[in-house]
Amino acid sequence: MKDLVIIGGASGLTAAITAARNGKNVTIIEKNSKCAKKLLITGNGKCNFWNEDQNLIHYHSNNKELLNKFITKERQNLALKFINSLGIVPKIKNGYYYPFSNQALSMHNALLLECQKLNIQIIKDLNVTNIIKKETFIINPNKENIKTKNIIISTGSKAAPKTGSDGQGYELAKKFNHNIITPLPSLVQLKGKESYFKNWSGLRCEVTVSLFIDNKFIKKETGEIQLTDYGVSGICIFNLSRYASIAINKNKKVKISINFMPFTEKPKEFIKNLNKNTYKKTTNELLEGFLNYKLIDIILKKAKIKRNIPLNTLTENEINKLIQNITNFELNITETHNMDHAQVCTGGIPLTEINSETLESLKIKNLYFTGEIIDIDGDCGGYNLSWAWISGIIAGKSVK
Ligand SMILES: Cc1cc2nc3c(=O)[nH]c(=O)nc-3n(C[C@H](O)[C@H](O)[C@H](O)COP(=O)(O)OP(=O)(O)OC[C@H]3O[C@@H](n4cnc5c(N)ncnc54)[C@H](O)[C@@H]3O)c2cc1C
Repeated sequence: MKDLVIIGGASGLTAAITAARNGKNVTIIEKNSKCAKKLLITGNGKCNFWNEDQNLIHYHSNNKELLNKFITKERQNLALKFINSLGIVPKIKNGYYYPFSNQALSMHNALLLECQKLNIQIIKDLNVTNIIKKETFIINPNKENIKTKNIIISTGSKAAPKTGSDGQGYELAKKFNHNIITPLPSLVQLKGKESYFKNWSGLRCEVTVSLFIDNKFIKKETGEIQLTDYGVSGICIFNLSRYASIAINKNKKVKISINFMPFTEKPKEFIKNLNKNTYKKTTNELLEGFLNYKLIDIILKKAKIKRNIPLNTLTENEINKLIQNITNFELNITETHNMDHAQVCTGGIPLTEINSETLESLKIKNLYFTGEIIDIDGDCGGYNLSWAWISGIIAGKSVK
């Protein structure tokens, strides 16, 4: 019989290393022929594994009030120490941590090398489809029949299922009477149905973008967005997407408002002064000073203003409409991209069903969970891997 079996990825490897360093005999089971495949595609292949700003506002859960029990300053310090102990030297860019090598492979290899040094057994190409508990846990009874005293389920969410996290972990948890808060795509692109998308596809703009649900302001983000043939993408959009995803799932009305001139607090003054130092330029020519010409056509059309007319011939009403469409460009969001495109999921096992001290199930003794299968998701910027390290360490050291 085994001491501890861990099923899964980034947080699972962390739990395995922590438990093995504490003298436990550890086995990892992975359904793929390669461990932690998802880690290799994180941060565009560079692995944004941490963020300097560890304020809890960057973490989300349906039981937000419990987050401070699961993610504490002390645990954050442990996670950084853990990464350091793997020999990973960070490159820190605007508070975002990457391996200095700029390669997710460095993190991946460091984790696996440590597993090897600690004699952690890794069973690959084994899909866990069933776990039962008698005196011990039995994994895939009537097949592999692997017996273990403790088990950690680190199977991830449903995001990017091609990497192996296809939601099967939720089914395993359900068999132990755990509830699952419906997993929805997050850190994902937002889609709409506007005919002008084909014209703006490929543009990148520095904006402030605000999210409204049933016309109520929810959150705003500033930075670059990408305008695409299905809608909008980019880090700002990703950071709003969890709220959009949840609202769309509840059939609520989702809208974003884009401010294409976030650089001024006084848009009217700015627009009215545009032709001050220029000679005989039309409105669209003046707007080209700060907007892409493809976007100008869309904005003028929305504002019902003709091209090629001088700015000073616009009526006050037309000026107001123009400004409104530049600073408050409204776009109805009808859906998010699907799980194939999502970086993480909202939802999962409720925090109320897990012991925050140990990450042990409150329903089944010696059963633990780590990582994304738990109802905690983070913003873009390294927060999801931060949670993977933190949860892996806590579960790994709690196993008796
Ligand atoms: C494109 C992309 C980019 C990302 N970039 C970043 C980033 O830069 N920074 C950041 O913080 N986060 C990033 N993330 C999110 C981050 O990768 C995840 O939050 C993190 O990997 C979750 O870790 P985990 O341990 O919960 O599960 P995973 O790392 O998803 O691992 C789960 C593993 O379990 C295995 N498994 C599942 N079910 C079974 C089963 N039944 N039997 C056997 N094995 C099973 C899977 O094959 C998989 O290997 C990114 C995600 C994606 C998709």
